Amino acid sequence: AFLSFEGIDGSGKSTQSRLLAQSLRDLGHPVTLTREPGGSAGAEEIRALVLQGDPDRWSAETELLLFTAARRDHLEKTIRPALARGEIVITDRFADSTRMYQGLRGNLASTVNSLHDLMIGTEPDLTFLVDLDPETGLSRALGRNGTEQRFEDMGLAVQKQMRAGFLALAALHPRIRIIDGARDPATIAAEILSLTLAQLS
Ligand code: C5P
Repeated sequence: AFLSFEGIDGSGKSTQSRLLAQSLRDLGHPVTLTREPGGSAGAEEIRALVLQGDPDRWSAETELLLFTAARRDHLEKTIRPALARGEIVITDRFADSTRMYQGLRGNLASTVNSLHDLMIGTEPDLTFLVDLDPETGLSRALGRNGTEQRFEDMGLAVQKQMRAGFLALAALHPRIRIIDGARDPATIAAEILSLTLAQLS
């Protein structure tokens, strides 16, 4: 099975993807836990190129091409081999993030979908959208004080746009389950585990 986590910065999706991987391993399932942008050696190099460099280095179009190249490498080198070994693959972000950040924010929605159809063509079986109000998400994300704050610096207005976009996407695709990210992590994790086990059976 191929599972993804999506949500705005600071939503808790990375924590939840780790908790799900651990619970599934405890139940005896082989799991590959991965992330985007990144998830393979080449894709991690592209991540660093885009997220750690000068924020104005790439246009919206070249950023989309770079992230699409990264996803293609991630698929070829990490996701497909793990699925072929019979593992459960959990990725912290996938194509829905590109639909939001490069598509909606970058005003490239139809290009994003065309490129996806041409070069990726794969969707997760199940996507957990960890939904949280942007005020809380932003304060969590900024509190992390990481080295890749370019996108966290987008600010509240963009985070609100991203949240609304994710919720609209979820309304279109039954694979996307909206998870209330304002609850305590253990409660959220239990809901996600039970949805996953239902999907596996
Ligand atoms: O999820 P993570 O914190 O690793 O993402 C790093 C940054 O890259 C985030 O700030 C996110 O908003 C941004 N991002 C992006 N386009 C994507 C995926 C992530 O702008 N397709």
